[in-house]
Amino acid sequence: MKMTVAAPEVVRTIADLRSKIAEYRLRAGPAAKVGFVPTMGYLHEGHASLIRRSAAENGLTVLSVFVNPLQFGPNEDFERYPRDEKRDYAVAAEAGANLIFMPQVEEMYPRPMQTSISVRGVTERLCGASRPGHFDGVAVVVTKLLNIVAPDRAYFGLKDAQQVAVISRMAEDLNMPVEIVPCPIVRDADGLALSSRNVYLSAEERSQALVLSQALKKVPEWIEDGATAPELTGRIARLIRTKPLADIDYVEVLSYPALEPLAETLPLKQARERILVALAVRFGKTRLIDNVLIG
Ligand code: AMP
Repeated sequence: MKMTVAAPEVVRTIADLRSKIAEYRLRAGPAAKVGFVPTMGYLHEGHASLIRRSAAENGLTVLSVFVNPLQFGPNEDFERYPRDEKRDYAVAAEAGANLIFMPQVEEMYPRPMQTSISVRGVTERLCGASRPGHFDGVAVVVTKLLNIVAPDRAYFGLKDAQQVAVISRMAEDLNMPVEIVPCPIVRDADGLALSSRNVYLSAEERSQALVLSQALKKVPEWIEDGATAPELTGRIARLIRTKPLADIDYVEVLSYPALEPLAETLPLKQARERILVALAVRFGKTRLIDNVLIG
């Protein structure tokens, strides 16, 4: 059963959100499905694609907009992370969200957390290595939100492929009664992966940042040519370094979703697992991530 009201409702408290979802489930009956899209807001077409998918697959779509302080390091951009509730509301409404949960930090964290959630293994490399504590913060907020919303399905973008691996593993390890649905990366017409952080880029940085998607686009061809993991990362890094403003954090090739290194001498086209080619590169103060999944 679809919600009859077209305009989404903004909800600020956990109690209010729970009661609205319960009301829906009561009204819609046992076949009712609730889809959930967690975000940090400043919504773009990538977020909208998740909301649309949820709206197509579920009777009720809940969107959360919450910049989670726990997942930012001390020198990261929590304070200056872009926020725009009005714009978020418009994008969410257009994409088909029904309830928009926009809590204050105090609502989510009324007192310091004494509970932590740490997913080992899949968090050891990539962003887990560059941003210590980041995935612990993500695991806590996603668990809290899943406990609050209790959705049938939760939608996550493969733009953050490691995050999908971490959340899926956590949900399996802890028997969370939710289906984690990975969704494809949405890009601008010029190839740049959409991100709320793209607004930080100067025109020159943005133009040089196109090298990321250009390098990733060549990956299938390089794999076909017989590249091993070190050869592939080398080729990608060399191409990125032709841009003077690019400062590489990492370029890595790992199995997916286990995120384990592949044998260094193995031509990647002979690998049995899916392969994730992921990178993080700074342009000025802005750290961008992008990736491609093969197989
Ligand atoms: P964020 O607001 O950056 O925390 O992202 C919220 C959700 O949207 C996450 O599941 C992201 O992976 C997803 N997302 C962000 N950017 C994109 C994109 N360009 N394409 C697809 N999904 C995205």
